[in-house]
Amino acid sequence: MNDGIGLAETLLGLPGFRVLEVVENGSEVVVSIESTTIRSFCRSCGVRAEAQDRMRVDIRDLACFGRPARLVWTKRRWRCRETLCPARTWTEHSDHVDAQAVLTRRAGVEACRQVGENARPVAQLADELGVCWWTIMNAVIDHGTPLVDDPDRVGPVRQLGVDETSFLKATPTHATVYATGLVDLERHIVIDMVEGNSAGDLRRWTEHTDPRWLGGIEVVATDLAESFRAGLSPHLEHTRRVADPFHVVRVANRCVDAVRRRVQNETLGHRGRKADPLYRIRKLLLAGGERLDQRGADRMLLGLRVGDPDDELLGAWLAKESVRDVYLADTPTDAATLLDKAIIGCTSDDVDEIQSLGKTLRSWRTEILAHHDTGASNGPTEGLNLCVKKVKRCGHGFRSFDNYRLRVLLHAGGITWPERPTPPRIRTRSPHSNA
Ligand SMILES: [Zn+2]
Repeated sequence: MNDGIGLAETLLGLPGFRVLEVVENGSEVVVSIESTTIRSFCRSCGVRAEAQDRMRVDIRDLACFGRPARLVWTKRRWRCRETLCPARTWTEHSDHVDAQAVLTRRAGVEACRQVGENARPVAQLADELGVCWWTIMNAVIDHGTPLVDDPDRVGPVRQLGVDETSFLKATPTHATVYATGLVDLERHIVIDMVEGNSAGDLRRWTEHTDPRWLGGIEVVATDLAESFRAGLSPHLEHTRRVADPFHVVRVANRCVDAVRRRVQNETLGHRGRKADPLYRIRKLLLAGGERLDQRGADRMLLGLRVGDPDDELLGAWLAKESVRDVYLADTPTDAATLLDKAIIGCTSDDVDEIQSLGKTLRSWRTEILAHHDTGASNGPTEGLNLCVKKVKRCGHGFRSFDNYRLRVLLHAGGITWPERPTPPRIRTRSPHSNA
């Protein structure tokens, strides 16, 4: 069948193919095609080839008007007329369909973009196109790896952020597996992901990275993890280290939480319940003091008066606020004064949790104050962590770290995706515009 004017070919949009038949069955549209090449020459000796026979290949393409599409390509097989020629027979090929592939090239590229750029689940795409999970994942690997490996993707970086995310939850057979993300804090992109969160994991990454590129890095922001501090030497020894404000405050918040839980348990003999005075103010305790309105402050103080007989939690709250104050300071000198006050206050406290907060602050003093000169913070990293988590959620758990890394980098790694056509918009019709 041929409509003679190329309507079917226009719809198909694959140059070099002719549509023979379009059949619709319940679950898919089946398009039979053949190539428009009617003659072929032997690649080995150049003689004009003879048609041998045909073979049928089934390929999946992009969905057709909302229905999965199957292309049935009747491939020509050619034979060399020269009896002595080593070429014998061969099958025709097309740039749009890779040999052995189940998907057309354009369907593979689009699947990669959907999974990468839009962080959609592989299983969803597999369902939509009517192929198995691995067909999509392989397309993502085939088309995505060159985009991720492109040396122009990252470029020079001045501010590097290092942050961990959990990769696999703990199970009876293994502990939680972490991944370390390396982020360009200025461009807000994930540079790379490393399996593990130990000093060795980070060091191994810097070892395999171009020393000239590392030399361009001026500032590294991390959370308060000893492992990261250790992992930055020797290859990033020259950089200014910054303790990320978000994480510094989080350490103080955790101190408040720890004291609250302990006091709650000691006074009531059980974990927090809905009606317990301290449990009810748990969120107020973590909010910044300056953000509490009068009512919130009253509620918090009341809760403390009822549930905190020895003022331990009040002490932790004040310690937390003193840490937050460091970031409200206008000048680096003021910040140093405030931080030193907080350190002295915490380390001289009787409560263990507050003391240990003081020790942490003392050990990270230089890095904490470096924020005030460099302005570097992992804030953007935290935003990216949300992207990373989105990828993770949509994967419903990953088994292969390589696939996980690839999908995170495709989603948040600053990929330049091939341009797509941008058709003019057809606007919503307004019922009044015809008047
Ligand atoms: Zn030949």
